[in-house]
Amino acid sequence: MLENLSARLQGIFSGLKSKGRLTEEDINAAMREIRMALLEADVNFKVVKSFIAATKERCLTAEVLDSLTPAQNVIRVVLDELTALLGETNAKLELSGRMPNVIMLVGLQGSGKTTAAAKLAYRLKQQNHQPLLVAGDVYRPAAAEQLATLAGEIGVKVYRGDGQDPVRIAREGVQEAISTMRDVVIIDTAGRLHVDEDMMAEAQAIKDAVEPDQVLMVVDAMTGQDVVNVAAAFAERVDFDGVIMSKMDGDARGGGALSIRQVTGKPIKFISAGEKPDSLEEFHPDRMAKRILGMGDMVSLIEQAVRVQQEEIEQEEAERLLRASLTLDDFIMMNRQIRKMGGVSKLISALPGGDRAMASGQVDEGALDAMEIIINSMTKEERQHPEVLNGSRRARIARGAGVTVPEVNALIKKFNETKKMMKKMMPSVDELQGKRGKK
Ligand code: GDP
Repeated sequence: MLENLSARLQGIFSGLKSKGRLTEEDINAAMREIRMALLEADVNFKVVKSFIAATKERCLTAEVLDSLTPAQNVIRVVLDELTALLGETNAKLELSGRMPNVIMLVGLQGSGKTTAAAKLAYRLKQQNHQPLLVAGDVYRPAAAEQLATLAGEIGVKVYRGDGQDPVRIAREGVQEAISTMRDVVIIDTAGRLHVDEDMMAEAQAIKDAVEPDQVLMVVDAMTGQDVVNVAAAFAERVDFDGVIMSKMDGDARGGGALSIRQVTGKPIKFISAGEKPDSLEEFHPDRMAKRILGMGDMVSLIEQAVRVQQEEIEQEEAERLLRASLTLDDFIMMNRQIRKMGGVSKLISALPGGDRAMASGQVDEGALDAMEIIINSMTKEERQHPEVLNGSRRARIARGAGVTVPEVNALIKKFNETKKMMKKMMPSVDELQGKRGKK
């Protein structure tokens, strides 16, 4: 699966690693090679173009992690951009609460729809669902027979109806699921060898008749570039919610898998790499990107560096607060944090004597909301530099927030007290930096 691309990229990266420092020309040369490798893997040229532009821009201008070598920094950017290209996050198959859930499969003939229907049923059965397969492909000779055979192997029932009218079969299939208490219906539909109007019209008619919760398009990874055109045609005419990419085990160049998300905007939900019922995997863009780059150790090293950088950013943020450069924006953040932790009452009742404070009514939950409304009526400058809040500004804020001036004054007083208290309570910045071994 995408082995050629993987090998090419690794070759390019080892070329970079042998250089200590990377000049702009080195990066340009590497980008040209990556571009060629992607095009040879049959990735759509528009996708390649925007991928290279984004990657190059970041390699030349973006943040460089000191803990990584220049070559590792380039690999980090490529990994990031490749993950983004593949869809960023895993798009799970979400079943709605509807009974039964209806999943409809569409795609060209030979794309692997019938096999995918059985694989999906197998997967759902493993997850304790009771799926029903519906044989909606009435044109391909033996499609219903094939589905029945596969279903028999995995112990799932098939509804075949009269074997003539796909819309009727789909509708009756859903009824059958209701009367036999099955919670998911998977409808196989007919494909043609090429995109054509009859196929689209029929898929649309089935869709109108059963209103599926999801339409998944099955595409054959071996068809390369063409995958993208077919998917774009379906997206325009019938629309679908996600993709099952079949035959990822083939020795094809696999560029379709890399292009489809960008071109259609639809997520790849599953990939299949084999004919067996258990060969359907959830698609994880990050894992796939790592697999393509194929450098386990290097990738963990890069991830570790990114994590450390993130921690440093958080640490600096905390230190800024401690330097008592507390702003009213921070005040709102703290307020939200308290709310996330379950509100003032929960925090206070966790303290010794907190229950008593609650009982005596010393806690005002509504104060948090009022505070946020007042701060929201301030300008950015006022929030960042509360010292500019003179009498006329306070009066304007009170009007804007629908409160009295003394309420605004009380908030500012509270803010100043918090700032003072934080300064007293927290270790100094020098102490903190000492701990981190920094000057
Ligand atoms: P349909 O016309 O879309 O229903 O396609 P089929 O489900 O009949 O699949 C066409 C052929 O591809 C069959 O021979 C399947 O066994 C095979 N096939 C489907 N998925 C995969 C896969 O992931 N890997 C491999 N190697 N073959 C597959």
